[in-house]
Amino acid sequence: MAKAVLIIADGMGDRPMKEFGGKTPLEASVKPNLDKFASLSECGLMDSIAPGIRAGSDTSHLAILGYDPYTYYTGRGPFEAAGIGMDVKQGDIAFRCNFSTVDPDMTITDRRAGRIDKGTDQLAAAINGMKIDGVEVIFKESVGHRGALVLRAPGLSSEITDTDPHHEGAKVLESKALCDCDEAAKKTAKAVNEFVAKSYEILKDHPVNKERIAKGLPPANIILPRGGGIGPNMKSFMDNYGLTSACVAETGLINGVAKYVGMDIIDTEGATGGLDSNLMNMAKNIIEALKTHDFVLSNVKGTDIAGHDGFGQGKIDLIAKLDEMMGYIMDNVSEDTFVVLTSDHSTPCDVKDHSGDPVAIAFYGNGVRVDDCTSFDERSTAKGGLGRIRGTDVMNILTQLMNVQEKFGA
Ligand code: ZN
Ligand code: ZN
Repeated sequence: MAKAVLIIADGMGDRPMKEFGGKTPLEASVKPNLDKFASLSECGLMDSIAPGIRAGSDTSHLAILGYDPYTYYTGRGPFEAAGIGMDVKQGDIAFRCNFSTVDPDMTITDRRAGRIDKGTDQLAAAINGMKIDGVEVIFKESVGHRGALVLRAPGLSSEITDTDPHHEGAKVLESKALCDCDEAAKKTAKAVNEFVAKSYEILKDHPVNKERIAKGLPPANIILPRGGGIGPNMKSFMDNYGLTSACVAETGLINGVAKYVGMDIIDTEGATGGLDSNLMNMAKNIIEALKTHDFVLSNVKGTDIAGHDGFGQGKIDLIAKLDEMMGYIMDNVSEDTFVVLTSDHSTPCDVKDHSGDPVAIAFYGNGVRVDDCTSFDERSTAKGGLGRIRGTDVMNILTQLMNVQEKFGA
């Protein structure tokens, strides 16, 4: 049976830059393997959500995997929580959280608790498992000052406001239902407020914090949840496409999306999510994963990081590493493997954030109608045979090429 690998260079799409004589970083890059890949593929442009829509990494990945984010996405919380190994169920309300520092009057003095990097597992253990008015509280630490909270009970809602005011010097906010008519939201907001208050009561005198205070460090004495979303009712990747699947990615958010649809998560040594990441180790893991899975999703994060930093040369350097990674993959995939390369959105270095500009995409494999494109970049692939597609088209195009899609009609 045919296999497939989908490689997403996060935020690689860009706009023409003065620094590169009016070329995009992709256009200005030396990338023999990417160009060879384009010349063997059918190319085009992709709007991950829809033309002009500025996509997040989570919503764009959902769309590219064939799950309409307007149906399934209510916030990044559920995917963030799944990405750190929490078991998020349908109907759970999940939040991203910060360990923060507050004064006794609830004024925030440090939203990241001095970027605490030790002892959060002990703090989390003191919080995890509490019950608030019949609502089960599951809490886990993530990297640095981060964590995730899952609230579990029947009849909860994510239609509530944040408690985190997002800046220092402000007081912790009270979570409220977005609509006064919404009993589920009121119940959830009440649980969140009690969670925040209890987190302060439990953490303020915790030994980890006593030690921090003794060392002159800000105590991580409160937990502030934000970005709450409801665990969506999504079909697994297997149920959708009949394909076994794995994910080779670098960030919790992408692993969380993948885990939520039932993919196996494969960690890569040296995959840092930054510009220094070991993409060759990822390439090797992709090839290994293809031996035991029908479909492998991979996300390379560094291109997005360079975009957010406004670091054009950094993006070019990362593209050179991606080029090497693609060379290895193309040399090692079996003959019946399809390879798709794209980005989840553009992160132009001059914008330092995601934009709604479409991204280059190319499909390679048996039966693909190879076009005349010989360079993998935004303007060259615009002339390709695919034309301009949307994220939710990707899996349809891929599964029909693989001959595994059911017919619509007779
Ligand atoms: Zn992204
Ligand atoms: Zn980004």
